[in-house]
Amino acid sequence: MGRIATVNQIIPFSCVDGPGSRLVIFLQGCNFNCKNCHNPYTIDMCDSCGDCVVTCPVNALSLTIDEQRKPKIVWDSDKCTQCDICLTTCPKQSSPKTRQYSVPQMLELLRSQVHFINGITVSGGEATLQLPFIIELFQAIKTSEDLAHLSCMIDSNGYLSESGWQQVMPYLDGAMIDLKSWQEHTHSYITGRDNHRVFSSLKILAAEGKLYEIRLLYIPKISDIDSEVNAIAGYLTQLPASVRVKLNAFQHHGVTGEALNWPTCTEAQMQQLAAQLSQRGVGNLVLPTVYL
Ligand code: SF4
Ligand code: SF4
Repeated sequence: MGRIATVNQIIPFSCVDGPGSRLVIFLQGCNFNCKNCHNPYTIDMCDSCGDCVVTCPVNALSLTIDEQRKPKIVWDSDKCTQCDICLTTCPKQSSPKTRQYSVPQMLELLRSQVHFINGITVSGGEATLQLPFIIELFQAIKTSEDLAHLSCMIDSNGYLSESGWQQVMPYLDGAMIDLKSWQEHTHSYITGRDNHRVFSSLKILAAEGKLYEIRLLYIPKISDIDSEVNAIAGYLTQLPASVRVKLNAFQHHGVTGEALNWPTCTEAQMQQLAAQLSQRGVGNLVLPTVYL
Protein backbone atom coordinates (compact mmCIF):
# COMPACT_ATOMS: atom_id res chain seq x y z
CA MET A 1 0.00 0.00 0.00
CA GLY A 2 1.25 3.50 -0.85
CA ARG A 3 2.00 6.24 1.61
CA ILE A 4 -0.76 8.40 3.09
CA ALA A 5 -0.26 12.00 4.21
CA THR A 6 -2.17 13.89 6.88
CA VAL A 7 -2.90 17.25 5.28
CA ASN A 8 -3.98 20.38 7.12
CA GLN A 9 -4.63 22.49 4.04
CA ILE A 10 -3.99 22.76 0.32
CA ILE A 11 -3.69 26.12 -1.44
CA PRO A 12 -4.13 25.68 -5.22
CA PHE A 13 -2.16 28.81 -6.18
CA SER A 14 0.51 30.68 -4.25
CA CYS A 15 3.20 33.04 -5.46
CA VAL A 16 5.08 33.35 -2.13
CA ASP A 17 6.08 29.72 -1.57
CA GLY A 18 8.78 29.28 -4.18
CA PRO A 19 9.19 30.40 -7.79
CA GLY A 20 6.17 31.07 -10.00
CA SER A 21 2.67 29.91 -9.27
CA ARG A 22 2.58 26.89 -6.98
CA LEU A 23 0.17 24.47 -5.40
CA VAL A 24 1.09 24.31 -1.72
CA ILE A 25 0.40 21.33 0.52
CA PHE A 26 0.50 22.06 4.25
CA LEU A 27 1.11 18.83 6.16
CA GLN A 28 -0.06 18.42 9.75
CA GLY A 29 2.52 17.98 12.52
CA CYS A 30 5.74 19.75 13.54
CA ASN A 31 8.84 18.87 15.56
CA PHE A 32 9.41 22.48 16.65
CA ASN A 33 7.16 24.22 19.15
CA CYS A 34 7.72 27.85 18.17
CA LYS A 35 6.32 30.40 20.59
CA ASN A 36 5.71 32.68 17.59
CA CYS A 37 3.87 30.07 15.48
CA HIS A 38 1.21 31.70 13.30
CA ASN A 39 -0.62 28.42 12.89
CA PRO A 40 -0.20 26.52 16.17
CA TYR A 41 -2.99 24.10 15.25
CA THR A 42 -0.67 22.47 12.73
CA ILE A 43 1.89 21.42 15.38
CA ASP A 44 0.30 18.42 17.10
CA MET A 45 -1.40 15.44 15.52
CA CYS A 46 -4.99 14.82 16.58
CA ASP A 47 -5.22 11.63 18.68
CA SER A 48 -8.99 11.26 18.21
CA CYS A 49 -9.81 11.82 21.87
CA GLY A 50 -13.23 13.10 20.78
CA ASP A 51 -13.32 16.15 23.11
CA CYS A 52 -14.08 18.55 20.26
CA VAL A 53 -17.01 16.55 18.85
CA VAL A 54 -19.64 17.87 21.25
CA THR A 55 -18.49 21.47 20.94
CA CYS A 56 -19.06 21.68 17.19
CA PRO A 57 -22.25 23.77 16.75
CA VAL A 58 -23.16 22.21 13.40
CA ASN A 59 -22.28 18.53 14.06
CA ALA A 60 -19.48 18.53 11.53
CA LEU A 61 -17.38 16.23 13.73
CA SER A 62 -18.03 12.63 14.69
CA LEU A 63 -16.09 9.84 16.36
CA THR A 64 -16.00 6.48 14.60
CA ILE A 65 -13.96 3.28 14.75
CA ASP A 66 -11.47 2.58 11.95
CA GLU A 67 -10.49 -0.75 10.33
CA GLN A 68 -7.99 -1.42 13.14
CA ARG A 69 -10.77 -0.87 15.68
CA LYS A 70 -9.19 2.38 16.85
CA PRO A 71 -11.10 5.64 17.47
CA LYS A 72 -11.07 7.99 14.50
CA ILE A 73 -12.34 11.53 14.24
CA VAL A 74 -14.27 12.33 11.06
CA TRP A 75 -14.65 15.90 9.80
CA ASP A 76 -17.44 16.79 7.40
CA SER A 77 -16.11 19.77 5.45
CA ASP A 78 -19.51 20.38 3.81
CA LYS A 79 -21.14 21.00 7.18
CA CYS A 80 -18.18 22.92 8.68
CA THR A 81 -18.63 26.68 8.98
CA GLN A 82 -14.96 27.28 9.91
CA CYS A 83 -15.96 28.77 13.26
CA ASP A 84 -12.77 27.22 14.76
CA ILE A 85 -14.43 26.36 18.09
CA CYS A 86 -12.92 22.87 17.81
CA LEU A 87 -9.42 24.35 17.64
CA THR A 88 -9.88 26.21 20.91
CA THR A 89 -11.48 23.15 22.55
CA CYS A 90 -8.65 20.77 21.75
CA PRO A 91 -6.42 20.09 24.79
CA LYS A 92 -3.48 19.50 22.40
CA GLN A 93 -4.16 22.68 20.40
CA SER A 94 -4.50 20.35 17.41
CA SER A 95 -7.01 20.31 14.57
CA PRO A 96 -9.59 17.68 13.65
CA LYS A 97 -9.94 19.40 10.26
CA THR A 98 -7.37 17.34 8.40
CA ARG A 99 -7.63 15.03 5.41
CA GLN A 100 -5.77 11.91 4.41
CA TYR A 101 -4.32 11.87 0.90
CA SER A 102 -2.70 8.98 -0.95
CA VAL A 103 -0.15 9.74 -3.66
CA PRO A 104 -2.63 8.85 -6.48
CA GLN A 105 -5.21 11.20 -4.92
CA MET A 106 -2.64 13.99 -4.77
CA LEU A 107 -1.63 13.35 -8.38
CA GLU A 108 -5.26 13.59 -9.43
CA LEU A 109 -5.54 16.96 -7.68
CA LEU A 110 -2.33 18.14 -9.35
CA ARG A 111 -3.65 17.12 -12.77
CA SER A 112 -6.72 19.28 -12.22
CA GLN A 113 -4.43 22.31 -11.64
CA VAL A 114 -1.51 21.46 -13.88
CA HIS A 115 -2.22 24.15 -16.49
CA PHE A 116 -2.14 26.91 -13.87
CA ILE A 117 0.98 26.08 -11.85
CA ASN A 118 4.77 25.89 -12.25
CA GLY A 119 5.28 23.46 -9.41
CA ILE A 120 4.35 22.25 -5.96
CA THR A 121 5.67 23.12 -2.52
CA VAL A 122 5.24 20.86 0.47
CA SER A 123 5.07 22.89 3.67
CA GLY A 124 3.64 22.45 7.18
CA GLY A 125 3.71 22.11 10.13
CA GLU A 126 7.02 20.54 9.29
CA ALA A 127 6.80 18.91 5.89
CA THR A 128 9.71 16.51 6.36
CA LEU A 129 8.01 14.67 9.24
CA GLN A 130 6.10 12.93 6.45
CA LEU A 131 9.17 12.43 4.25
CA PRO A 132 8.28 8.95 2.85
CA PHE A 133 5.07 10.42 1.42
CA ILE A 134 6.97 13.39 -0.05
CA ILE A 135 9.54 11.12 -1.69
CA GLU A 136 6.84 8.90 -3.18
CA LEU A 137 4.91 11.95 -4.42
CA PHE A 138 7.94 13.73 -5.93
CA GLN A 139 9.08 10.47 -7.54
CA ALA A 140 5.64 9.98 -9.09
CA ILE A 141 5.62 13.56 -10.41
CA LYS A 142 9.07 13.26 -11.95
CA THR A 143 8.15 10.02 -13.72
CA SER A 144 4.72 11.15 -15.00
CA GLU A 145 4.89 12.47 -18.54
CA ASP A 146 2.22 15.09 -17.94
CA LEU A 147 3.59 16.33 -14.58
CA ALA A 148 7.36 15.98 -14.91
CA HIS A 149 7.78 19.67 -15.80
CA LEU A 150 6.49 20.73 -12.34
CA SER A 151 9.22 21.72 -9.89
CA CYS A 152 9.10 20.02 -6.51
CA MET A 153 10.09 22.09 -3.48
CA ILE A 154 10.07 21.75 0.30
CA ASP A 155 9.51 24.51 2.84
CA SER A 156 11.16 23.31 6.07
CA ASN A 157 12.38 24.28 9.53
CA GLY A 158 15.68 22.60 8.59
CA TYR A 159 15.60 19.89 11.25
CA LEU A 160 15.76 16.97 8.80
CA SER A 161 18.84 14.76 9.13
CA GLU A 162 21.47 14.56 6.40
CA SER A 163 20.32 11.05 5.46
CA GLY A 164 16.77 12.36 5.08
CA TRP A 165 17.89 15.12 2.71
CA GLN A 166 19.95 12.62 0.72
CA GLN A 167 16.89 10.37 0.28
CA VAL A 168 14.75 13.16 -1.18
CA MET A 169 17.57 14.95 -3.05
CA PRO A 170 17.18 13.11 -6.40
CA TYR A 171 13.59 14.37 -6.70
CA LEU A 172 14.01 17.78 -5.03
CA ASP A 173 14.33 20.99 -7.06
CA GLY A 174 14.78 23.36 -4.14
CA ALA A 175 14.12 24.12 -0.49
CA MET A 176 13.20 27.12 1.60
CA ILE A 177 14.73 26.91 5.11
CA ASP A 178 13.93 29.00 8.20
CA LEU A 179 16.73 30.28 10.40
CA LYS A 180 14.84 31.60 13.39
CA SER A 181 17.87 32.76 15.37
CA TRP A 182 21.65 32.82 15.14
CA GLN A 183 22.60 31.86 18.70
CA GLU A 184 21.77 28.33 19.77
CA HIS A 185 20.19 29.41 23.07
CA THR A 186 17.97 32.00 21.39
CA HIS A 187 16.88 29.45 18.79
CA SER A 188 16.09 26.95 21.57
CA TYR A 189 14.13 29.57 23.49
CA ILE A 190 11.97 30.44 20.47
CA THR A 191 11.52 27.00 18.86
CA GLY A 192 12.23 24.44 21.60
CA ARG A 193 15.15 23.01 19.54
CA ASP A 194 18.74 24.08 18.91
CA ASN A 195 19.85 25.17 15.44
CA HIS A 196 22.73 22.74 14.74
CA ARG A 197 20.68 20.69 12.31
CA VAL A 198 19.35 23.84 10.64
CA PHE A 199 22.91 24.93 9.80
CA SER A 200 23.69 21.40 8.67
CA SER A 201 20.65 21.39 6.34
CA LEU A 202 21.62 24.77 4.92
CA LYS A 203 25.13 23.49 4.19
CA ILE A 204 23.91 20.27 2.54
CA LEU A 205 21.34 22.04 0.37
CA ALA A 206 23.73 24.84 -0.62
CA ALA A 207 26.38 22.29 -1.64
CA GLU A 208 23.83 20.52 -3.83
CA GLY A 209 22.67 23.80 -5.40
CA LYS A 210 19.19 23.25 -3.96
CA LEU A 211 18.96 25.99 -1.36
CA TYR A 212 16.42 28.29 -2.99
CA GLU A 213 15.79 30.55 -0.02
CA ILE A 214 16.88 31.15 3.58
CA ARG A 215 14.29 32.87 5.76
CA LEU A 216 15.34 35.03 8.67
CA LEU A 217 12.83 35.89 11.36
CA TYR A 218 13.12 39.33 12.92
CA ILE A 219 11.42 39.63 16.30
CA PRO A 220 12.70 42.87 17.86
CA LYS A 221 14.32 42.26 21.27
CA ILE A 222 13.63 38.48 21.03
CA SER A 223 15.37 36.96 18.00
CA ASP A 224 19.02 37.97 17.58
CA ILE A 225 19.03 38.84 13.89
CA ASP A 226 19.83 42.50 14.62
CA SER A 227 22.32 42.03 17.47
CA GLU A 228 24.20 39.35 15.50
CA VAL A 229 24.07 41.18 12.18
CA ASN A 230 27.86 40.99 11.61
CA ALA A 231 28.01 37.22 12.12
CA ILE A 232 24.85 36.63 10.10
CA ALA A 233 26.01 38.80 7.21
CA GLY A 234 29.35 36.98 7.21
CA TYR A 235 27.50 33.67 6.98
CA LEU A 236 25.07 34.79 4.28
CA THR A 237 27.79 36.16 2.03
CA GLN A 238 29.39 32.68 1.98
CA LEU A 239 26.23 31.13 0.52
CA PRO A 240 25.81 30.87 -3.26
CA ALA A 241 24.78 34.26 -4.70
CA SER A 242 21.60 32.72 -6.12
CA VAL A 243 20.15 32.01 -2.66
CA ARG A 244 17.33 34.39 -1.80
CA VAL A 245 17.52 35.91 1.68
CA LYS A 246 13.95 36.47 2.77
CA LEU A 247 13.38 38.66 5.81
CA ASN A 248 10.25 37.85 7.82
CA ALA A 249 8.81 40.50 10.13
CA PHE A 250 7.20 39.09 13.28
CA GLN A 251 3.52 39.98 13.60
CA HIS A 252 0.78 38.84 15.99
CA HIS A 253 -1.57 37.32 13.41
CA GLY A 254 -2.55 33.80 14.51
CA VAL A 255 -0.14 33.81 17.45
CA THR A 256 -1.23 32.48 20.86
CA GLY A 257 0.40 32.57 24.32
CA GLU A 258 3.37 34.63 25.54
CA ALA A 259 4.46 35.70 22.05
CA LEU A 260 1.42 37.98 21.98
CA ASN A 261 3.38 40.17 24.43
CA TRP A 262 6.41 40.36 22.13
CA PRO A 263 6.87 43.53 20.07
CA THR A 264 6.03 43.25 16.40
CA CYS A 265 8.51 44.26 13.70
CA THR A 266 7.77 47.56 12.00
CA GLU A 267 8.57 48.43 8.40
CA ALA A 268 11.18 50.95 9.60
CA GLN A 269 12.94 48.29 11.70
CA MET A 270 12.91 45.90 8.77
CA GLN A 271 14.30 48.54 6.40
CA GLN A 272 17.08 49.26 8.91
CA LEU A 273 17.99 45.57 9.17
CA ALA A 274 17.96 45.22 5.38
CA ALA A 275 20.27 48.25 5.08
CA GLN A 276 22.67 46.78 7.66
CA LEU A 277 22.81 43.47 5.80
CA SER A 278 23.17 45.20 2.48
CA GLN A 279 26.06 47.37 3.76
CA ARG A 280 27.80 44.13 4.79
CA GLY A 281 27.56 42.68 1.30
CA VAL A 282 24.37 40.60 1.52
CA GLY A 283 22.50 40.63 -1.79
CA ASN A 284 19.32 38.99 -3.05
CA LEU A 285 17.33 40.35 -0.11
CA VAL A 286 13.55 39.90 -0.16
CA LEU A 287 11.54 42.13 2.19
CA PRO A 288 7.93 41.74 3.35
CA THR A 289 5.32 43.64 1.38
CA VAL A 290 2.81 43.85 4.24
CA TYR A 291 3.23 44.43 7.98
CA LEU A 292 0.06 43.12 9.63
S1 SF4 B 1 -14.53 24.76 12.64
FE1 SF4 B 1 -15.97 23.36 11.65
S2 SF4 B 1 -15.60 21.40 12.65
FE2 SF4 B 1 -14.67 22.95 13.97
S3 SF4 B 1 -16.28 23.47 15.49
FE3 SF4 B 1 -16.48 24.94 13.78
S4 SF4 B 1 -17.98 24.04 12.38
FE4 SF4 B 1 -17.28 22.40 13.77
S1 SF4 C 1 -8.73 17.72 17.50
FE1 SF4 C 1 -8.08 17.61 19.62
S2 SF4 C 1 -9.98 17.53 20.81
FE2 SF4 C 1 -10.51 16.96 18.70
S3 SF4 C 1 -10.36 14.73 18.65
FE3 SF4 C 1 -8.37 15.54 17.97
S4 SF4 C 1 -7.09 15.59 19.83
FE4 SF4 C 1 -9.25 15.40 20.50
